[in-house]
Amino acid sequence: MRCQQRMRKMDEGCLTDLSVHQLRVLLERGEVAPRDVHEAYVRRIEEVDDQLNAYITVCPDFPPELENRHGRPVFPVAVKDNIMTRGIRTTCGSRILARFIPPYDATAILRLKERGLYVLGKTNMDEFAMGSSCENSAFGPTRNPWNLDAVPGGSSGGSAAAVAAGEAPWALGSDTGGSVRQPAALCGVVGMKPTYGRVSRFGLVAFASSLDQIGPITRDVWDCWVLMRALCGHDPLDSTSAPGQAPIPPPQSVESLGGVRIGVPREYLGPGVEDAVRDAVLKAVGVLEELGARAEECSLPHTEYGLSAYYIIAPAEASSNLARYDGVRYGHRTCQASSLLDMYELTRQEGFGAEVKRRIMLGTYVLSAGYYDAYYLRAQKVRTLICRDFERAWARYDLLAAPTSPTVAFPLGERTADPLAMYMADVLTIPVNLAGLPALSLPCGFARGLPVGLQLIGRPFDELTLLRVAQAFQQATDYHLYRPVVGGEVDG
Ligand code: GLN
Repeated sequence: MRCQQRMRKMDEGCLTDLSVHQLRVLLERGEVAPRDVHEAYVRRIEEVDDQLNAYITVCPDFPPELENRHGRPVFPVAVKDNIMTRGIRTTCGSRILARFIPPYDATAILRLKERGLYVLGKTNMDEFAMGSSCENSAFGPTRNPWNLDAVPGGSSGGSAAAVAAGEAPWALGSDTGGSVRQPAALCGVVGMKPTYGRVSRFGLVAFASSLDQIGPITRDVWDCWVLMRALCGHDPLDSTSAPGQAPIPPPQSVESLGGVRIGVPREYLGPGVEDAVRDAVLKAVGVLEELGARAEECSLPHTEYGLSAYYIIAPAEASSNLARYDGVRYGHRTCQASSLLDMYELTRQEGFGAEVKRRIMLGTYVLSAGYYDAYYLRAQKVRTLICRDFERAWARYDLLAAPTSPTVAFPLGERTADPLAMYMADVLTIPVNLAGLPALSLPCGFARGLPVGLQLIGRPFDELTLLRVAQAFQQATDYHLYRPVVGGEVDG
């Protein structure tokens, strides 16, 4: 990789450097208008997106209906391209949906629109969210703003890179096995996967339905807290949405962590975890202790089986979910076919990339007669064991702390020829999805000039504890205040 990239402290005079709660103050004081914020972001995208490729679609026009909101602030948000946006192309990073324009908004988008947010653009991603590097996109890879020769992580790599590089103040991603947290960690921003059932999946293009959740990607914990509040809640349009959930209270500053008990699972710090990542995470746990928390090592003994179980369950569900792309109802249809069967085959052959085809084949295989018991059923049993590991931990701890990713951002192209090496990127995030738990990644240091992410894992529906602990950490540290100097940009 080319030599270490430069970084700088955030500049309070630069609109695209600010977090949303800082922008809100300027908007409320009338010092800037929503249109100024919009134009600053569009300019920034024009300036750096040629190098980063974080966006698949940009919406450059400020929505006229938001011109007069009677002083109520409005904010742009970048949205991963597998979340339905009415009238705005939604491709899933795939050739098969390259021209698909949804006729409706996802529930998550509607909830944000009700609160004065509008879509600034749709961000790049691994095709159908299958990948950990953003290199499996039909629209070309996204690059990491901290080092243009490194990956931003995936599959929500476009969202994470856009927020890190000042191309969006905040963004939505989706997390099936780590796709919000891992790119957030690799790009030095905050990312949260909510408890399964917290945020509606209606309008999120299904990858693995028992694992998928939409989550926020933000510059700091305060903004993450604000977006979580907006996104969470029951939705009758999603049968897996949890009824009767307690709403998330407004963000607050947190000075002390007295009484908080933290477990540090030793399996998450074992071989394969880079030394510099381990050091940064243990140092961060030290900061939490100084704030009053009590931390000790613990064990989640079935962790090592998580990855194998995931790569049976997720492809199984994907093979079924992706059967709908048949060239009949929507998306690409081949022009070469001479029979109906031919049409199905050629459409899918032309429309899907290599990783998606690999997952469909894997999934079809593990679900087929004779293999179902040997693979799928066994993987579900392993999933239960992983859930029990966590349940036992909740008897002693309020949350668990671990690295988000075993390494910092790796070089572009390094793992594309080796799917297993690529799959390892999510070894520390996948167990959380299998158990349906909430987890948050936040910046906790740098190694070789690249950001390191601390992962906090919580009890089901206890996002609040994670947000409070993360907020206390950010009040005591300044890792979240550094910004990458992108490519040839002049250092100000
Ligand atoms: N990297 C994992 C995969 O490829 C997780 C992806 C995700 O969370 N969407 O399946």
